[in-house]
Amino acid sequence: MDSLPPSALPDGAGCHGGRETMLDAARAAGKTAAMERLMADYPRGPHDQPQSMCPAFGSLRVGLRMRRVATILSGSACCVYGLTFTGHFYGARRSVGYVPFNSETLVTGKLFEDIRDAVQATAKPEEYDAVVVINLCVPTASGVPLDLLPKQIDGVRIIGIDVPGFGVPTHAEAKDVLAGAMLRYARQEAEAGPVARPKSLVEGEPTIALIGELFPADPVGIGALLAPMGLSVAPQTPSREWRDLYAALDCVAAAAVHPFYTASIREFRAAGRPIVPSGPVGVEGTADWLEAVGRAANLPAARIDLARSRALPALQGALGANPIQARVTVSGYEGSELLVARLLVEAGAEVPYAGTACPRTEWSEPDRAWLEAHGCHVQYRASLEQDMAAMEEVKPDLAIGTTPLVQRGKELGIPALYFTNMVSARPLFGPAGAASMAAIVAAQTRGRERFGRMVSFFEGVGTKDGAGYGFAGKPVDPPGFRERQRKIRAARAKAEEAVGT
Ligand code: SF4
Repeated sequence: MDSLPPSALPDGAGCHGGRETMLDAARAAGKTAAMERLMADYPRGPHDQPQSMCPAFGSLRVGLRMRRVATILSGSACCVYGLTFTGHFYGARRSVGYVPFNSETLVTGKLFEDIRDAVQATAKPEEYDAVVVINLCVPTASGVPLDLLPKQIDGVRIIGIDVPGFGVPTHAEAKDVLAGAMLRYARQEAEAGPVARPKSLVEGEPTIALIGELFPADPVGIGALLAPMGLSVAPQTPSREWRDLYAALDCVAAAAVHPFYTASIREFRAAGRPIVPSGPVGVEGTADWLEAVGRAANLPAARIDLARSRALPALQGALGANPIQARVTVSGYEGSELLVARLLVEAGAEVPYAGTACPRTEWSEPDRAWLEAHGCHVQYRASLEQDMAAMEEVKPDLAIGTTPLVQRGKELGIPALYFTNMVSARPLFGPAGAASMAAIVAAQTRGRERFGRMVSFFEGVGTKDGAGYGFAGKPVDPPGFRERQRKIRAARAKAEEAVGT
């Protein structure tokens, strides 16, 4: 293929190539429209590049979790190694396709032909409903045109997406890139004619589509909250199989429980579905959310009141049984940070800071306003530095955050909990969420005194010059070493000064 513009990509470009350099290269290679779409959907943050794992992992994970969907990566071998390693670490249990390249295949356009051949060989209708191809940083910056792939091969849908680290700030938003592309494809199929009947479809039963990857018990719990209104839960977005996409789009309203799914929300809107912000956390959050859902579904006030009167006493009971008397900071990159902070405040915690790596959108506005009214500083697109500074300033009884923040918290003697582990292992919504989330946080906040003792016991061990392997005792400086070094530096500075005069 010789129609590709020449690559403007410098040697060795990637995560560390610099965002502007990569963006300029992508634009020069014909990706201006794709980059503008990404910039509009996922506005930039204060830092130049992702501070969490490679963003493309979000898209890869969405593809790997779908039945009868093959996922192929196009990118540098080191990126693909890291992504597949992480994919299998999180239990992918299936192969990830990879189309390698070298400088020659990249600049001549042969890489695109190799991708097309790989898609052709993979797209077997007896095995797959869809094949997903993900362009990582270098192929995106080099303009590899996945939009020129065939739209389908023998009925197998082909979906090509660009997910560069210099265009998608977090792996959470990368989930939306693929979820949105799939919803778009499925919506256009449904608009064009009859489609496969979703397995879970119950004729005449209105449903609410939940947007966001949730703990498995959460959709069940939310279904119980909705049942008194005569509503049930549609298959989630991101979906687990292709025909679930039709069922999700068939909802009466979509709930943006995770508020950063901009591309997916665009598709629900294009299908004429109203969008409900926030999520059913705590007593006030659940009361507001049920009302918003009932209104979006055009239900009479009596049905909404019935649902609220069933849900709220159980929530009050769960929160009352697990009171939190502590100061807690919350930060993370999953997109549910504001909901967790709300729940903790309702359970009695003081939450002076909630930071999220995700951007501000209208779908988290109720949570932002509620938290700020309750004395919490909400930081969108929070950098690690901002999260750290908040923790060090307010000295919480418990810091919930990312791995480096947890590490720093422990060094300071502050009990700390890894946000992703906490939310991925227990429900967040309804009475079940109120009971389990509040209980784990209440238990962790009791560790402060123990952490303080540990810090004083290990004072100075394994830090700075003493870090590393092989010390049998507490490392000590070689006698006189620092003083000798100081004198050498002073003599060198003096000599340089003398040369200067
Ligand atoms: S694909 Fe991911 S790991 Fe590779 S250069 Fe881009 S951001 Fe970095």
